[in-house]
Amino acid sequence: MKLKDYRKKRDFEVTPEPKGDGESQPSSGKSLAYVIQKHQASHLHYDFRLEWNGVLLSWAVPKGPSLDPSVKRLAMQVEDHPVEYGGFEGGIPEGEYGGGTVMVWDRGTWTPEVPDVNAALAKGDLKFTLNGAKLKGSWVLVRTRGFGGGGGRSSWLLIKHRDQFASTKDITIEEPRSALTGRLLAEIAQEGGGNVEKAAAGDPADSKKAAKAVARTPRAARRSSRKRLRAK
Ligand code: MN
Repeated sequence: MKLKDYRKKRDFEVTPEPKGDGESQPSSGKSLAYVIQKHQASHLHYDFRLEWNGVLLSWAVPKGPSLDPSVKRLAMQVEDHPVEYGGFEGGIPEGEYGGGTVMVWDRGTWTPEVPDVNAALAKGDLKFTLNGAKLKGSWVLVRTRGFGGGGGRSSWLLIKHRDQFASTKDITIEEPRSALTGRLLAEIAQEGGGNVEKAAAGDPADSKKAAKAVARTPRAARRSSRKRLRAK
């Protein structure tokens, strides 16, 4: 019943988001999914998700991940999502829960660095390795004692550990495109009939010109250029 909150918040007659058929199951030996969805809703944030026990444990990270080990990023735990949600990219209708544009910003697999994930989650200190298209190496989520304790939402910090993948480059600015389709938020919104201007506000400034150029390109031409991008 871990998806009860997820389903309660959404009207699946209206939103294209997956309902999630499966109920939660214990995770066994197979590889575990990791995904970050960049979500331009009322505020821009990055939804950080780790597959565990048949659902995606989820945290909303307002500023997105940082590769710099000296930077701690606030991560508010939110309701578990169905595993299928990790492939969702598109528009949520305005007025619905989370209304706006969703991009699959990064995805791959994760490996716990602790022997007992349930115990680590209960303790509020989960160390893990990411193997994504953009994020790699060792990370930690640490629960804080700060605000956000009410309503089942707890606040955590997402921190990069020092390793060969640590860096001071701002990956959210340098790699703003979808790991799934290569699109910017504005392009996803446009093709889904969403609010392009609102979505574009979540794209880095220097990519907005590129998005505007795309907006002027005839639809058929965009389609074929995207096919080329996918073929890569
Ligand atoms: Mn979100």
